[in-house]
Amino acid sequence: MTRTSFAGMKRRQPGIPAIPPGRVLGAGAFIPAVHRARQSPVNERPGLPLVLSLFPGIDLFGRGFEAEGFCVVRGPDLIFGGDVRAFHAPRGRFQGVIAGSPCQDFSRARRDPPTGQGLAMLSEFARVVIEARPAWWWLENVPAVPDLFIAGYSHLRLDLDPRDFGASQARLRHFQFGHRLGRVPIVTRRSARGDMQSQRCAVASESSRPGRRSWPDFCELQGLPRSFSLPGMSLAARYRAVGNGVHVLVARAVARATLDARDAKAVRLCDCGCGRIITARQRMATAACRKRMQRRRDGAARHSRLGDIGDVERIRRAFPNGVRERGRGDVAIGGPAEGRDRIIGGPGTARSAS
Ligand SMILES: [Zn+2]
Repeated sequence: MTRTSFAGMKRRQPGIPAIPPGRVLGAGAFIPAVHRARQSPVNERPGLPLVLSLFPGIDLFGRGFEAEGFCVVRGPDLIFGGDVRAFHAPRGRFQGVIAGSPCQDFSRARRDPPTGQGLAMLSEFARVVIEARPAWWWLENVPAVPDLFIAGYSHLRLDLDPRDFGASQARLRHFQFGHRLGRVPIVTRRSARGDMQSQRCAVASESSRPGRRSWPDFCELQGLPRSFSLPGMSLAARYRAVGNGVHVLVARAVARATLDARDAKAVRLCDCGCGRIITARQRMATAACRKRMQRRRDGAARHSRLGDIGDVERIRRAFPNGVRERGRGDVAIGGPAEGRDRIIGGPGTARSAS
């Protein structure tokens, strides 16, 4: 009589190749179908990749990814009593890690010297990426945020204007992207901005500003449904939470750009950082890109004429050594984006894009 072994039933079936535990496969990597259904360690089920969202707040960034078919898991946040420093992510479970880390230290509106919190939280973000080992990561912050290099990932900076994705406000959002296979996200903009009247930007301090817009109007301005509600939060806290968020249409564009990511060797991107693809003969994609670059050069020249070191340099001087993760050199927080070449590179081998 044949012995029945229940333990044996759980064993790997012959002919099905094993995926080493914790190994992350990039988007588009070949995975035998049987792994998707049975034992994929990276949740590569088509249409439902797992994404970890750090510093989520009410997570408009994550909402955009959900709307594009991702399953978003939210990390701890101070507004819910959580602390990222006590958080650890399982290795190999998440396809991506996204975050809009605290930006006050890097904000132009800041009058006091930076507290160090901004850099400390960038370092926490990098630590979690190293722990989780996702295929890719996105970091959203203000334009003056330093470069964040994480060993094993490429690095790319992008500026995105909500009006290019159907929104009615011109609040530029700044993103950094890393990919383990060095892939480049392909951002698709609307061909025309339409005749929509551009509105005053949504900001965190909206509730105390003169001419405050109504709650439904403010939610709609950020890409949320007019019926959106945040029960249990004060009026000021609700406006702050929504005003701090990434516009939902921008978040959706970022999620789609991730799904459409391509090999870095196959595309060249505009020098201005807009993420547009350019031909071999071009350096910049549009007339607006050329104007933007000129404005940056003029601004840098004005700063040096006035002897003003600028916000970014102030941050750099306050933290001359940047931040390194546990002394192993896995993470480097570099200088500012402005006035530097934008860097794209394969894993571990960053190279200049220009
Ligand atoms: Zn451009």
